[in-house]
Amino acid sequence: MTIKKVLKYGTPSLRQPSKEVHKVSNKIKDLVKDLLETMYAQNGVGLAAPQIGENYRIFVIDVSSGDEPLNPMVFINPKIIKKSGAFISSEGCLSFPEVFTEVRRYKNVTIKAQDSKGRSFVLNADGGTLLTRAIQHEYDHLDGVLFIDHARDIDDANEKLSKYNLPAVEEDRLINEDKLEEEIQKNQTKDKEENND
Ligand code: ZN
Repeated sequence: MTIKKVLKYGTPSLRQPSKEVHKVSNKIKDLVKDLLETMYAQNGVGLAAPQIGENYRIFVIDVSSGDEPLNPMVFINPKIIKKSGAFISSEGCLSFPEVFTEVRRYKNVTIKAQDSKGRSFVLNADGGTLLTRAIQHEYDHLDGVLFIDHARDIDDANEKLSKYNLPAVEEDRLINEDKLEEEIQKNQTKDKEENND
């Protein structure tokens, strides 16, 4: 197992769509181990294969914290099969050291994938938890999509990117999320009304 270098934003391969895994071979198993080891070495919550220069549809997540035992989760050939709701998530990424900005995410997702032994599983990550957002964030990496493509405040994102000498938001890659934003606004109004009762 090897700790790999995490590619930084601006590296062209981070924008390339990744290939399906046809067989969970020894090579793929080694890649999964490297991903986990690199994620732990960087204190990350998730890491996708393209971030270490391997454009395969694989990511790993561990949302355990503090004294909890490690809980490595491996997703090979994942597909988000259901999504609903919306919430604001403040996110960073190992490919964007020190940069955090608000993005829009679905509140509930169901994902289907294969584990490190090639066995299929289905997982619900509901309620806008750390797991919910990590799944969406890492899944995007496999399609060359980055969290800043979901930024709610472009000026805020650009200010932080320039502070850490990273390229600016690519405006033509911004994802139209009017529906998610509408839902977020609706929830905020509802929260306000409930707090006034
Ligand atoms: Zn990331």
